[in-house]
Amino acid sequence: MRKTELKKALYLLLCTAIFCLVSCSRTPQADRIFTNGHIITINEDMPEAEAFAIKKGFITAVGTNAEMREAYPLAEEVDLDGKDVMPGIIESHGHMLNLGRSKMRVDLQGVNDPREVVQKLRERVAETTPGEWIDGWGWDDGAWKEQMTAISHELSIVSPDNPVWFAGLHGYNGWANAKALEMAGIAKDTPDPEGGKIYKDPKTGAPTGILANAAQGMITRLMPPLTVAQREKAFEIAGEELLKNGLTSVHDARITRKDLDALRSLKTKKKLKVRYYIMLDCTDEELIEPYLKNGPEIDPDNWLTIRCIKVFQDGSLGTRSALMLEPYSDAPDVLGVTTTSQEEIERLTIRSLQAGIQVATHAIGDRSNRITLDAYKAAIRAVPGAKDHRLRIEHAQVVALEDIPRFKELDIVTSMQPPHATSDMPWAEDRVGPERIKGAYAWRSFLDAGVRVPLNSDFPGETLNPFYGMHAAETRQTPEGKPESGWYPEQCLTREEVLYAYTVESAYSGFEEHIKGQIAPGMLADFIVISGNILTIPSKALLSLKVERTYVGGQLVYSMNASR
Ligand SMILES: [Zn+2]
Repeated sequence: MRKTELKKALYLLLCTAIFCLVSCSRTPQADRIFTNGHIITINEDMPEAEAFAIKKGFITAVGTNAEMREAYPLAEEVDLDGKDVMPGIIESHGHMLNLGRSKMRVDLQGVNDPREVVQKLRERVAETTPGEWIDGWGWDDGAWKEQMTAISHELSIVSPDNPVWFAGLHGYNGWANAKALEMAGIAKDTPDPEGGKIYKDPKTGAPTGILANAAQGMITRLMPPLTVAQREKAFEIAGEELLKNGLTSVHDARITRKDLDALRSLKTKKKLKVRYYIMLDCTDEELIEPYLKNGPEIDPDNWLTIRCIKVFQDGSLGTRSALMLEPYSDAPDVLGVTTTSQEEIERLTIRSLQAGIQVATHAIGDRSNRITLDAYKAAIRAVPGAKDHRLRIEHAQVVALEDIPRFKELDIVTSMQPPHATSDMPWAEDRVGPERIKGAYAWRSFLDAGVRVPLNSDFPGETLNPFYGMHAAETRQTPEGKPESGWYPEQCLTREEVLYAYTVESAYSGFEEHIKGQIAPGMLADFIVISGNILTIPSKALLSLKVERTYVGGQLVYSMNASR
């Protein structure tokens, strides 16, 4: 009896299991299908498609409309209306806090009427707590010193309780209100500091508020560092900007402890907006030590991954602080500066490789690049287990031609910024001369040597619009189309290479090519709807290409129409 009952029970169980299997297979294996689009996948297996399916924030299938509808009859269908769609673009070198900050300051760029400055300050005062600093930026300190002096008194009246600092567009002058001058102890009898000038009224002798060069430090050193809450706001504003520009992920190229606190807090509140790959500021030992001990922090939700430290080897070409093998062509006594020594880079890299942490070193000049390569080489040799290290050099702006193959030999990921080339080209050759310029901004040479080259913008110093960067990479021209045949046009890339560099290669540079950079099964559902066919439009049309919609993890997070 008991045996029969057991058999019966087992039979029932089997039936239930089969029923479950059958019915489960009928429920959709996708939450949504996106159909009727022109999908540019950046995936060699299927470069273009009509439709794709997503489930729980990931892409599960790509193909034709019919295939998706047949496979997922119960999934919600989103009609793409024949639009062009591509993977979310990855900004593999940007500075989010600075971007957000630049949007938070009172923006005086392009203001020509003094009354407008007064009005802007009045509005800002109304929304600021008394006593809190107000900072602005962008009044034309080259042309506008008199006008600022003329409205100085009025501005001080508008903001009696808040100290104000309005930095000039060119950085040579700034303007402080009476409250700020008082806090700095700047009065009639204050002498000019070394290397600076305090402008004073010729009649009364009272300071006008205009401070030049080193005198600006008398005010700026009083301004408190940003609080975590202010940082959160800046990151949020920056995130919105990225989404508008079709960027769904960012590699933040220097994060401090307070920045990280702000980002963690935003993550908890689900307000990060874009996905972060963090490069920690290596000068803060307390910040990096836990990672050098315990290894990376890879976010299972793919929002905030901490896996890299940022090192600065030298300065910049414009200020002649980039470290060169031979003196500058336009300054025969200058070789540039070292920020971090070869020994220190080697030491940090060995520890990083042992912990599975990536190192990204800022190297602009040819000596700086050589020093970094030498340090990396020694570190790789010292840690034989570190196979897939993906050590990065950021910028590689001027490189000795004989060093380019070394990037391939050592498998160095070379992160370059096309907008730097078009911004620097009016003076870059003056700095380095006609020979060294051949290894400057030389992305084609790197690609031809087999090096992996993610392209990015280094915003906010340059525009974060990735299509401008793509235009610069393939034309070597300014947005105005100068020079006509391109600046050292032999370094131009093809459209295909450019798209790859902003998606797959940028994902690779953060160890994320298995989840980012393509529209393919297994990838995060981060994608953008754009206003034209980016595979075929002429270079110039990249400059007017619009991001119409941005999706992160399958969620619509930006729509051009909604924000109008
Ligand atoms: Zn940078």
